[in-house]
Amino acid sequence: MPGFGWKKGLFIIFIVLLFSSPAFSVDKATALRIANLIEKHKQEIIDIRRFIHMNPELGNREFETSKLVSSKLLSLDMEVRSETAKTGVVGLLRGKHDGITIGFRADMDALPIEEQTGLAYASLNKGVMHACGHDIHTSIALGSAIVLNEMRDMIKGNIKFIFQPAEEGAPSGEGGGASSMIKQGVLKNPPVSAIIGMHVWPEAETGEVLISPGTIFAGLDTFEITIMEKSSHGAQPPKEIDTVYIASQVVVSIYSMASRTLDPVNSAVVTIGKISGGSRPNITADEVTMEGTVRTLNQETQEKIKQLIERIVISNTQPFGASYSYNYLKGTSPLYNHPDLTAILRPSLVNAVGQNNVRSFPPQMFTEDFSEYSERLPGFYFLLGVKPAWKNSVHPLHSSQFNPDENCIPIGIKVLCHLLLDCLDYQAQFENHNK
Ligand SMILES: [Zn+2]
Ligand SMILES: [Zn+2]
Repeated sequence: MPGFGWKKGLFIIFIVLLFSSPAFSVDKATALRIANLIEKHKQEIIDIRRFIHMNPELGNREFETSKLVSSKLLSLDMEVRSETAKTGVVGLLRGKHDGITIGFRADMDALPIEEQTGLAYASLNKGVMHACGHDIHTSIALGSAIVLNEMRDMIKGNIKFIFQPAEEGAPSGEGGGASSMIKQGVLKNPPVSAIIGMHVWPEAETGEVLISPGTIFAGLDTFEITIMEKSSHGAQPPKEIDTVYIASQVVVSIYSMASRTLDPVNSAVVTIGKISGGSRPNITADEVTMEGTVRTLNQETQEKIKQLIERIVISNTQPFGASYSYNYLKGTSPLYNHPDLTAILRPSLVNAVGQNNVRSFPPQMFTEDFSEYSERLPGFYFLLGVKPAWKNSVHPLHSSQFNPDENCIPIGIKVLCHLLLDCLDYQAQFENHNK
């Protein structure tokens, strides 16, 4: 990345580690200052979270959330750009000292789910719920902006807070999410040198932070197959073709493909979520359409799956003289944590929450459009525990009863403040060293 020495930087950190203790900016006095500021603003931030939770909005329709975010950022005297990619908001916090710009991405959208938590601050919007914790992400970003605004004197560079719409997908026919934000220049003016993102994680306890280098989440592609009765081959003699039978063979073959033909390390999850065709129970269908998704952890597997699906379709349609159409659309890329950036920031997390609370995790088949950013510049994405220690389990993400532990909010703010300050300080040390 031009102007940002992660590779050389990693070498410098080895030198620093060899000859002295790590020189992170968040020393004990700074950590105490962060903790005091969080305490000072905690209730206000919890109130913001509850307000957002009560008023959830779907992707590209986050009008009220967006207004709340931009008015809060403006009150902090930040440079604010709103209505980016429909409802996105970008707030720039300039530190007192020169330096690079680090981004933090928070998503703001809710899901079309009827809330069943019974909480006093449950959703007031029927059929819409913050069931993926984006209300928490937005509040942690705002809380960090509030805290760091009072610490500008020690910030060596800029922090760009990116409040993004439609992470869960835009309404049909509309663009949205990370790619729209990027198209509208969110990574420019000033250029963002590295970006941080996070997600609440119900499988980890409140207080724990999960990180891993390399690929952590899957890429997501979509496909559509249509089996047609009419053979495109002119020499094929006309005969009655049962497209429903062929489609069912295709489904079975696709589902057994992943377990049989892919190695377990580079596996894939293929789901056919929609099948449609036919008009009456006693008439064979002219055509059957199947729509599905493919989740993979690397591009090689992605390409392999694309070809394997077509081979399955061909081998099931040809013997019957049926024809087909097949469209495979590449969607979200796998989410990749920059290994050097992860190595640099791990000590920062340990400093923030303690060695025992920083854990690794294996790659997950979830998807995240944060990969759009981390594809373009060094990215670091972590998972924040939201399961209270006294509970054996909590409802998963996208459940109508998902209820993350609110105590994760001050912890998330603390973690983020440490990461952002250390990241900027690290680069400032690197640049000073090269002068
Ligand atoms: Zn989600
Ligand atoms: Zn989410």
